[in-house]
Amino acid sequence: ESSGADNIFNTLQTAAKEAGVNDKVQIVKTGCFGFCEKGPIVKVLPEDSFYVEVKPSDAKEIIEEQIVKGREVKRLLYNKDKKANQVEEIEFYQKQLRIVLRNCGVINPENIEEYIARDGYLALEKALFSLTPQQIVDEIKASGLRGRGGAGFPTGLKWEAGLKAAGDVKYVVCNADEGDPGAYMDRSTIEGDPHSVIEAMTICGKAIGANTGFVYIRAEYPLAVDRLKIALNQAREAGLLGKNILGSGFDFDIEIRLGAGAFVCGEETALLRSIEGQRGMPTPKPPFPAQSGLWGKPTIINNVETWANIPVILNKGAEWFGKIGTADSKGTKVFALTGKVKNSGLVEVPMGTTLREIIFEIGGGIKNGRKFKGVQTGGPSGGILTEEALDTPIDFGALTRLGSMMGSGGMIVMDEDDCVVDVSKFYMEFCVDESCGKCSPCRIGTHQIHSLLEKISRGNGSMEDLDKIKEIGFAMQKSSLCALGQSAPNPTLSTIKKFEDEYVAHIKDKK
Ligand code: SF4
Repeated sequence: ESSGADNIFNTLQTAAKEAGVNDKVQIVKTGCFGFCEKGPIVKVLPEDSFYVEVKPSDAKEIIEEQIVKGREVKRLLYNKDKKANQVEEIEFYQKQLRIVLRNCGVINPENIEEYIARDGYLALEKALFSLTPQQIVDEIKASGLRGRGGAGFPTGLKWEAGLKAAGDVKYVVCNADEGDPGAYMDRSTIEGDPHSVIEAMTICGKAIGANTGFVYIRAEYPLAVDRLKIALNQAREAGLLGKNILGSGFDFDIEIRLGAGAFVCGEETALLRSIEGQRGMPTPKPPFPAQSGLWGKPTIINNVETWANIPVILNKGAEWFGKIGTADSKGTKVFALTGKVKNSGLVEVPMGTTLREIIFEIGGGIKNGRKFKGVQTGGPSGGILTEEALDTPIDFGALTRLGSMMGSGGMIVMDEDDCVVDVSKFYMEFCVDESCGKCSPCRIGTHQIHSLLEKISRGNGSMEDLDKIKEIGFAMQKSSLCALGQSAPNPTLSTIKKFEDEYVAHIKDKK
């Protein structure tokens, strides 16, 4: 939409009408194709002609030439024979494996029938009529799926805790409060395939014995919210949500709660407080939400990407899923690849893919012939990875060992012109704004580190300031209440570790 897709859509419709083929061709809006750098994108089926950077004049030509005369036109990236004008850019999709994004860019997300036609709600049927709650949990456990929100906790174990927790009232929650700078995986998944989340939450409800779910989604995602509302209504009309789902005797429905944009509300305990109507502030764990979550009741909370994996796992089996990825981390990971890379976009790769493959093959390398400097993974909680990390197969464990973290999947590439002091100042400023202020290490520490970074970048810093940053950073990691404060110093500490000479140059050169 930001690159003018609505205009393209309208032009295609008008051109089809003018050419008299509007009853022969369906023009359908989809979700994100992932190749953001090259949008707007138009795909023509069944030829599989994939057009990029489409302008209204091209849209007219696509109708007049391809639909009417069967001739492909310029701006073609590939077709079904993979013959194209810009063959080298097909690499963007070649190393990808789209499980979470399986329907994004393929179906019309506002039409439940298109989701059903691609095996949608089959997994729910299985969960309702063929599997016991324990069998559902066992399948998720056997798949090895780990939470994609950042912490990487085994999803099946979490569900098992929910199943075993005592009580008649339990809840299921979807964390769609994605707030890292540069991350838009969850937004695109809901915009492109909202039913996958609804189906997965309903399956979890059946597994743990919950009858109510909440999707906590930030209000800044209006298209995602609209499509989610449409999908919920369609699921209710189809008897897939509500009382006595498909005659199974199981009741389940989902409500939407809009977040007001506080980053800390992505932290699960703060998110739960916000749903309850309280101020969104973290609370100590334990107790974990699976034991005591919303209104003190057992609550299973997963993020959008985790949920979107669930129907596929039940349909294709844990064994199939377990074969994808590494011993440490199964399945795929969606990354929002941005920054100084040629092909920015949303990419989904099997765990174990290297950073080099993501940045230089899928991403096409660094823009404008500049040199690669580093890549920030894990957003404001992660760290910078440099040249020597490029060939490491990445998964949850590998990224932690390399001094960063998976986080939710933001990946910002930097080139030789980027100043790491500015980068760490940017992330710290973000954390100063987003700290909820509940505990002093984070409330005070973020301000202190930020003002020391300011001092250094203005050319007034000293070597003692660098030592102070490290000391405060370590104290924050050890003593902050939640992950926001514990990880806020990571970008600064990791850039000091890898590029101390740049900090020293600012200090010594006084600029
Ligand atoms: Fe709030 Fe920061 Fe403490 Fe977390 S670490 S509770 S965000 S002040």
